[in-house]
Amino acid sequence: MPVPRRRFLGTLVAGAAAPAATASYVHPRKVLLWECTRKEFREALEEGRLKVVVLPTGSTEQHNEHLAMIHDTASATFLAQQAALRLYPRVMVATPVPVGISPHWMDRKGTLTLRRDTFLAVVYEVCESLATHGVRAILILNGHGGNETALKESLPEFRRKLGIRLEAHSYWEAYGPEIARKYLASARIPGHAAEFETSFALAAFPERVRWEGVDYARVRGKLGIKDPKSAEEDELFAREARWATAAKGEALIAIALDWLLARLHAMMEG
Ligand SMILES: [Zn+2]
Repeated sequence: MPVPRRRFLGTLVAGAAAPAATASYVHPRKVLLWECTRKEFREALEEGRLKVVVLPTGSTEQHNEHLAMIHDTASATFLAQQAALRLYPRVMVATPVPVGISPHWMDRKGTLTLRRDTFLAVVYEVCESLATHGVRAILILNGHGGNETALKESLPEFRRKLGIRLEAHSYWEAYGPEIARKYLASARIPGHAAEFETSFALAAFPERVRWEGVDYARVRGKLGIKDPKSAEEDELFAREARWATAAKGEALIAIALDWLLARLHAMMEG
């Protein structure tokens, strides 16, 4: 059963699982590296409070006609921030990598893509920067399917070169096929801009879902999609996206958050 909305939001904002010694309210910016001052970040390191940094990786790419391009980056960052708030002050979120490996969507307007090597170089150098400052554990939390293989394949090399604890996971590793079947009519996770991602957005940042004026009958043939099978799939995903609800998103976010918290606990204890 989906968690009632008020309780869901309450636990996300208040950081209910934070240790008793910390205040029950943590300002959301306190766990974001890019919002911290040098003093705040330095002291977190010096005092040994900061144990793990989460680095979100995503994309800026077409998400069909109704969902914002930043979805993959925003969803990974959202989960990272919520987990960090629960584990404050032991976990912090590094500046997300907002463009990923998306050549497969370049015939759709708005998609930005990096070459595999460029993307991996950015991810590596952000991790290297963190390691230089004394961060000893980094969890790369990925939100874009196109980045997944490249990250997994590079992990052994990154670990060897950096000499720190380093993990890389796409957040949908939290879900098995059973969960997909239980919560989604399409049973499709992650899918692309379909029921799952749209439900996530409706729960986390509904302003990024905008159906106004979306009309396939009017734009069919004008979208520039080269492969006819892919054009068909585009419309299928759009139909499935109409099944999305905030309640489904809340239930699935809660599952991903528990999974992420367990991974972070394992890294802190390991
Ligand atoms: Zn996506």
